[in-house]
Parts: sequence; structure tokens; C-alpha cells
Amino acid sequence: MMDISCEVIRDLLPLYHDGVCSEESAKLVETHLQSCPQCREEWKQMQEETTMVKNMDEAKLIWETAQVWKKNRKASFLKGALAISLLACAACVIAFQAIGSYVAPDGTLVEPFGFIPMAWLFLLLSGIFGVGFAFARRKPKQK
Ligand SMILES: [Zn+2]
Repeated sequence: MMDISCEVIRDLLPLYHDGVCSEESAKLVETHLQSCPQCREEWKQMQEETTMVKNMDEAKLIWETAQVWKKNRKASFLKGALAISLLACAACVIAFQAIGSYVAPDGTLVEPFGFIPMAWLFLLLSGIFGVGFAFARRKPKQK
């Protein structure tokens, strides 16, 4: 049987669930839940519903992310490749600058010229990926 306190508790349950009721009300709810199977059932259901909604939201989010990813897969790949190429190019330039030239123990001047063609190579790759990326973005529904 549902008495008056059950109605009060059920009014409080949503607040208790959201953690926005006073400490006194929370204690009242907890005490009542321990002694009242009906309200405990109600509480359990409320928690299950929340979990379900949360799971559905997450599933939806994952699904939407997958759709967007699928749609922009090519563009994303090219964007990533472009970023990596640019980074590699910058790394080569930085490495060249950082190492600089030095005189080897046998008196010859050593300069890390090897980084220059590498930097150019990555710059060229960046250009290729950049053009590809721009193309993929411009025509997303290419068939
Ligand atoms: Zn009750």
C-alpha cells in the first residue's frame, strides 16, 4: 500500500536522483527506500531508465561520429597525411638548423645537407596531400 510518505518520497526521487535535494531530504529518501520495496522498485526503474538514455545517447554519438568519419574519411586521411608531411618537413628544417655545421675531428666541415632534400620531399608531399584534401573537401559527394 502506498501511504502519504511514499508520495512525498516519489516527489523527492527525481531531485534525489539529480542530487539537488537537501541533505535532510536525501536521508529521508534513503531511509524510506530501505524500508519500502515499492519505492525501491521505483528508484531502481529510474536508475535503469537513466542508464538506458545514457547508453542510447552514447550509441547515437558513436553512430554519428562513424557516419561523419565515413563521409570525411578521404578528407580526414588527406588532412592527416598533410599534417604529418608538414610536420616532417618542419622537423627536417629544425633538425638542419639545430645540428648546424660543425668541424669533424679530422678537420673537415660537416653540414647536415641531407635534411634539405628531405625537407623538400616532405614539402612536395604536403603540396600533393594539400591539393588532394582541397579536392576531397570541394566534392564530398563524388560518384
Ligand atoms: Zn514508499
